[in-house]
Amino acid sequence: MPTPKLPALFIGHGSPMNGIEVNDFSRSWRALGAEIPVPKAVLCVSAHWLTRGTFVTAMENPPTIHDFGGFPQALFDVRYPAPGSPECAREIRALVPETGIGLDLEWGLDHGAWTVIRHLYPEANVPVLQLSIDYARPGRHHYELGRSLAGLRRLGYLVIASGNMVHNLRLVDFANLDTPGFGFDWAHEINAVFGRHILERNHEPLMDYESLGPSAKLAVPTPDHYYPLLYALGMQEDDDEVSLFNDVAVGGSLTMTSVRIG
Ligand code: ZN
Repeated sequence: MPTPKLPALFIGHGSPMNGIEVNDFSRSWRALGAEIPVPKAVLCVSAHWLTRGTFVTAMENPPTIHDFGGFPQALFDVRYPAPGSPECAREIRALVPETGIGLDLEWGLDHGAWTVIRHLYPEANVPVLQLSIDYARPGRHHYELGRSLAGLRRLGYLVIASGNMVHNLRLVDFANLDTPGFGFDWAHEINAVFGRHILERNHEPLMDYESLGPSAKLAVPTPDHYYPLLYALGMQEDDDEVSLFNDVAVGGSLTMTSVRIG
């Protein structure tokens, strides 16, 4: 039996508190983990690991990184002890020799990874690796690297790209943080544009998001949380179904909109 092709996901991770809260987002992540065939390993492209050059974590036991401040102690107490896999790291690197992916022994699992993945695999029994984002490179580079790594889906990897399509922390309306679905007009507008291009498989304008006008610049003031989306889209093949989920705004200037490919 050939290995089935696993989906590629873009997940809007939002607040680190989603890592310990039971809410619509964390419930959807649990449902995905239960439904998708158990992968050999998860490869996570997190908005929170930006580097010069591209690296993949290659340690046996990646530490849980608490890369945030101002949250309850309960969140700092979380450890997510999923194993790593040096063997998988070498397999991933070998798939794209031209990229020169470095093997990393220093990072671990940042909150873009563990706050989501601990809901998919609460028993921490699936190896998790992270791929860093070469922050000096433009959108097209990240899309193309995603495309070069698409074969991982047939090698038993579940790729989880973790960010937020609309992510402007400076403009968050904290008074409306708990108002369900609250988004500014510009956030709803550009999020709908992103969503339409994704569903129509029209990836060119998404690689060059700045061309999508002033709302895109408000949505993506810096591209750290946006670039993971391009990895997931790059992994899309012609026969893949594409769907959106958690398609809601939070706090005015964030959206949780997530994409399932395949
Ligand atoms: Zn984040």
